[in-house]
Amino acid sequence: MHCSHCGTCCKKTEMMLSNADIERLERVGYERQKFVRYDRYSFARLKNHREFCVFYDIQKCRCKIYKHRPLGCRIFPVIYSEQEGIVVDDLCPMKNTVSKIELERKGQKVIDLLQKIDNEATSHRNTTPKKK
Ligand code: SF4
Repeated sequence: MHCSHCGTCCKKTEMMLSNADIERLERVGYERQKFVRYDRYSFARLKNHREFCVFYDIQKCRCKIYKHRPLGCRIFPVIYSEQEGIVVDDLCPMKNTVSKIELERKGQKVIDLLQKIDNEATSHRNTTPKKK
């Protein structure tokens, strides 16, 4: 696909993170508390700051961690929709540049990634003390 760097997908992000994503970003110097939040189902997600992902540079319209960005960001705009399955997200203005081969290749990655994240969230739920 051809990315126009519009930043739409980095605004109010709810991107889920795998443990591998978190550890990769920690290795390059980012503290997990600064970029990870856990939702009520124990899924790790990117934090936002002023309506954008904490890693989005609003002035330059660029991802500050592009080389190390989460796998879900690399796979985007291919996503899993509960109603339709693997699809190209309508949110992306360049969605028409995603080829059929890319959709198939990334679609399999989405499924693998979601399975992994789901297992990790289950483990997080089982090991994190409940808030009183
Ligand atoms: S990590 Fe980068 S590509 Fe992913 S949402 Fe944040 S700014 Fe966008």
